[in-house]
Amino acid sequence: MSGILVVAEHSGGTFKATASELLGKASQLGGTVYAAVLGDAPAASLGGFGASKVFQAAGDFGTHDSGAAADALAAIIRAADPDIVIAPASYEMRDVLPRLTARFDSAMASECNGLRIDGGKLVARRPIYAGSIESDVTISARPAFATVRPNSFDKPASTGASAPVESVAWSATTPTTKVVETLKPETRGIDLATASKVVAGGRSLKSKESFDSVIRTLGEVMGAGVGASRAATDAGYADHSEQVGQTGQTVAPNLYLAIGISGAIQHLAGMRTSKVIVAINKDPEAPIFQHASYGIVGDLFEVVPALTEALKNA
Ligand SMILES: Cc1cc2nc3c(=O)[nH]c(=O)nc-3n(C[C@H](O)[C@H](O)[C@H](O)COP(=O)(O)OP(=O)(O)OC[C@H]3O[C@@H](n4cnc5c(N)ncnc54)[C@H](O)[C@@H]3O)c2cc1C
Repeated sequence: MSGILVVAEHSGGTFKATASELLGKASQLGGTVYAAVLGDAPAASLGGFGASKVFQAAGDFGTHDSGAAADALAAIIRAADPDIVIAPASYEMRDVLPRLTARFDSAMASECNGLRIDGGKLVARRPIYAGSIESDVTISARPAFATVRPNSFDKPASTGASAPVESVAWSATTPTTKVVETLKPETRGIDLATASKVVAGGRSLKSKESFDSVIRTLGEVMGAGVGASRAATDAGYADHSEQVGQTGQTVAPNLYLAIGISGAIQHLAGMRTSKVIVAINKDPEAPIFQHASYGIVGDLFEVVPALTEALKNA
């Protein structure tokens, strides 16, 4: 193993939680850990999460120009010469890593939730068949590429160490796409991806109005992020950005309340690593109870308002 390069994403100079998460995981895999940073961010600080060296490419990558990001990362990969390149399964990297894989005539595993090394090769665990099962994929090509779903691994605290930073020169190939307009999503309440508590509702809420009055009210009282099953977002009770699961967000809060959610495998794929799971469901046979730390069998329209009232008075 000569090295693992982790793409450390940042937003306006603040590293995303996936940076420490992936660097922490890469450190456990063994070998030398490098970080790749695009644009202006305090690159040396990634030494605190295990990067022995950071490769940084200057430029403005804020417009989600995947072509430019691929050009810059290709230059970094040539400079670092890693065996493995891992990046978060963010909207940007889902676009960029396949481009890099093609350029390096290599192979890639996408949407992974587990990584290990076997015989010097990357073995990536990823859901297949609509999340019904998980498969281990061994990548023999070099460098092996993988995108990893956020919140798949623990996030280490920084040791405070700093790493040397090497600036990497790069040049852009002719752009084939142009960003015409950037529309910011409506942000409401606490960010789901990083919330330490999440309250999620399902199809059983029956309308947007009752989702708001039952789920969002409890979320506000608890100071929790609000999530939803796909059935609830498809029905328009909640926004698609609030969907938890295989085709939504992966969350790993300390507390996850699944309210009127059956516990389909595709929903579990996005929340089962939550530390404590509480399920409220009127069906004692609902699959969610097999994964719950605590369960309440009852009608959510009775249980949740009573819980909300009790928390308000606590
Ligand atoms: C390719 C693919 C990707 C998918 N991706 C996702 C994904 O990312 N996220 C996701 O969530 N799903 C996803 N799904 C859909 C998933 O298979 C389920 O259909 C969905 O999760 C079901 O949502 P639900 O639990 O809200 O609804 P249901 O399965 O209909 O469950 C409703 C539950 O509410 C309970 N209930 C009803 N009334 C009450 C009441 N008054 N009080 C208490 N409990 C009550 C019922 O007992 C039941 O258990 C995906 C499916 C496919 C095929």
